[in-house]
Amino acid sequence: MNVESGSLHHRVVIVGGGSAGITVAAALLKRQPDLDVAIVDPAEYHYYQPAFTLVGGGTYDLARTRRPLRQVLPRGATWLQAAVAAFQPDDDAVRLEDGRLLHYDALVVAVGIKLDWGRVEGLAEALGTRGVCSNYSPDSVAYTWECLQAFRGGNAIFTQPPPPLKCAGAPQKIAYLAADHLRRQSLKAQSTLKFYSGGGALFSVPDFVPPLERVAQDHGVEVILSHDLVAVDAERQVATFATTGADGESRRVEQPFDLLHVTPHQCAPDVVRESPLADAAGWVEVDKATTQHVRYPNVFSLGDASSLPTSKTAAAVRKQAPVTVDNLLAWLAERPLLARYDGYTSCPLVTAYGKVMIAEFIYDGVVTPTLPLDPFKASRFYWVVKKHLLPSFYWNTMLKGRAPDIAHRPLKRAS
Ligand code: FAD
Repeated sequence: MNVESGSLHHRVVIVGGGSAGITVAAALLKRQPDLDVAIVDPAEYHYYQPAFTLVGGGTYDLARTRRPLRQVLPRGATWLQAAVAAFQPDDDAVRLEDGRLLHYDALVVAVGIKLDWGRVEGLAEALGTRGVCSNYSPDSVAYTWECLQAFRGGNAIFTQPPPPLKCAGAPQKIAYLAADHLRRQSLKAQSTLKFYSGGGALFSVPDFVPPLERVAQDHGVEVILSHDLVAVDAERQVATFATTGADGESRRVEQPFDLLHVTPHQCAPDVVRESPLADAAGWVEVDKATTQHVRYPNVFSLGDASSLPTSKTAAAVRKQAPVTVDNLLAWLAERPLLARYDGYTSCPLVTAYGKVMIAEFIYDGVVTPTLPLDPFKASRFYWVVKKHLLPSFYWNTMLKGRAPDIAHRPLKRAS
């Protein structure tokens, strides 16, 4: 890793050193070790966010999810520890927060998704106090487990905002872990568990809805759809939801809580939304197969910040990155862009301690398992995959730019 000196031009500039940025940088340098690649990211740490669910459930150490960003940067890349304040694709440049312009031949935008804690009145102040917790931030995830341990019965509420959100299964997973924890502590009888979603379905892929409904039912978790969290009153321990009644009138519903796990509203980062790179919804507007920008051919994007119409996960990044790398190198070499992304994404749905169901699918919600196992059944094997194999795969294979071609295939159904 080089530290930036004077030159403010790099052949490839990658904005964001998260799952997508590091994976692409490492793979580019593996393919072309002398390629001039710069990564721009102000962060001190890189997090393995998929394990936050397990941290909140008290079965994984937060320290193991975090590594100094410096340590995960690939050898040969230059790191500019700064935030990008503006994208200026008409000048082939990005503007850094200190005003400097950084020029590129090709750009990869991988700045992730914005967690909009301010969208819910009172939430930012309440978080981390009086039972209000969230697995969505490394700053609040440890408090989730503290809250679960301190819970002695009462109302436990779990919320999910309307889409978009990263790892759309995560808001449910913590509800199921909580239910299982309370059962093991013999506290189920004096507890009420409710899962409020601002969306209209329990999961985006219809095939996974019935099995997940059964999981919720077995745990005694009541699922309440189309209820969007709008306010948290920590003092009174009351959550307020907006919904639409049968008469079509919007109304507010108050729900007292003893524990409130919040998944924050999410949206495209402002720096993208306010740039010429954005689509109408604010995401980097790329071709859904090639990951190349639809108006600026030397710009690519993947991961949570991109417009790729699939569920936003690190597993999706694993399959997007080789496509971006192939196509970006082809573009630099003036060759045709041949690599194609099929929308693959995956969500390991933790349904209890020791049980995981892995939802794998591609564009249009087509279920595409990697292994010949029933995708709608939770198993101990997948728990081992989630807790032990995937973190190691992430740090030692994916972030190192190695991309073993692990095939996934459309599910064969009995006719
Ligand atoms: P990120 O990894 O978030 O990285 C974005 C980077 O951009 C950050 O380093 C940030 O500092 C940087 N950045 C932001 N703004 C700027 C700027 N202006 N200038 C420069 N740099 C900037 N995925 C799974 O596959 N499986 C799971 O089980 C799973 N569970 C999850 C559970 C939780 C609770 C959470 C929060 C996420 C989970 N995910 C899961 C989702 C997964 O972590 C993300 O989809 C993935 O990290 C996206 O990668 P990314 O590179 O697009 O964004």
